[in-house]
Amino acid sequence: MNSFEALRDPDRCRAVLERIEKSLDGRRMRFMEVCGTHTVALFRSGVHSLLPRSVVHLTGPGCPVCVTHDSEVAAFLEAARMRGVVVATFGDLMRVPGPDGASLKDAQAEGARVEVVYSPMDALELARRNPGDKVVFPGVGFETTTPTVAATLRLAKREGVTNFFVLPFHKIVPPALEALVQDSNMAVQAFMLPGHVSAIIGVEPYLPLAEKYRLPSVITGFEPLDLLQSIFLMVEMLRTQNPRVVNNYRRVVPPEGNPKARAIVDEVFQPCDALWRGIGLICGSGLALRPEYKAFDAFEALGITLRETPAIPGCRCGDVLKGLLPPNKCPLFGKVCTPSSPVGPCMVSTEGGCAAYFKYRLAD
Ligand code: SF4
Repeated sequence: MNSFEALRDPDRCRAVLERIEKSLDGRRMRFMEVCGTHTVALFRSGVHSLLPRSVVHLTGPGCPVCVTHDSEVAAFLEAARMRGVVVATFGDLMRVPGPDGASLKDAQAEGARVEVVYSPMDALELARRNPGDKVVFPGVGFETTTPTVAATLRLAKREGVTNFFVLPFHKIVPPALEALVQDSNMAVQAFMLPGHVSAIIGVEPYLPLAEKYRLPSVITGFEPLDLLQSIFLMVEMLRTQNPRVVNNYRRVVPPEGNPKARAIVDEVFQPCDALWRGIGLICGSGLALRPEYKAFDAFEALGITLRETPAIPGCRCGDVLKGLLPPNKCPLFGKVCTPSSPVGPCMVSTEGGCAAYFKYRLAD
């Protein structure tokens, strides 16, 4: 059995499940996962359905498309509708509805120039090939995606490209977790921490969760045994009242993260406050371009500003992202709102809580 087969081995998984039950000893445990890939992994692996009923799994703000605020969606839609502008975007933003219900896909159907790209480097290449157009890349995502955007901007600066711009909507995870913990409506007892983000930032930024807020927190991989072991660690830390931040994904996440990737990000971006869907403005949770890179800022180049926008009527994505509402309890879930006709971003993104519930748990 190789190491990956071992991480999916039913006997080993069953043994950890038994340890979870034993450690729970009748107690309840509410944990939140903070990564859209974990949302999907918990369902796809079947782990979610095997957990004792006293273990409550809450979806958190871990889907980058879902946490993109309405006013940010309005901004990239505004860019798409400008003459001489090409919006080059990851495909998962194409169907996110804006405040008027229209998406980039709708704008494209009406004549806007929108291109799906697989990396920011593709967007830069588009700019090189179309020197008469302004190519705008909506910079959406967490610490995992920011280094590639920063590297692209460094290259664009070195080459003297003048028609490539970024809408900087990148978000930083740890300040959002602190904001959630400080919300008096929250009843989270432990965090399953994101594997990919942690590979960049390492362990240290999460320490306040345990030291200040007394919440067990476990950096977790995506195989069934990873998930179960992390849940066991959370339950055990609660039982022993010994909260810590544990790195249970050491085969990928070094304790110090990836300093080289962070150095590239630091050269190009600086921390700023940012808007999160459902949570609102969080201090220091975003990244703005540094003065040396301001020439690439689409806000300035296109004269776009973030405007207050009405929320999507009836959509409860904000509550879903804070773990306050199970996705299938939204009144629109599965009726008005489905993956083929999404009302909110949590049903658009494959990593969104609503889309995952629809795909794996509609019968519940
Ligand atoms: Fe929004 Fe649809 Fe999810 Fe309801 S089911 S919260 S409308 S995305």
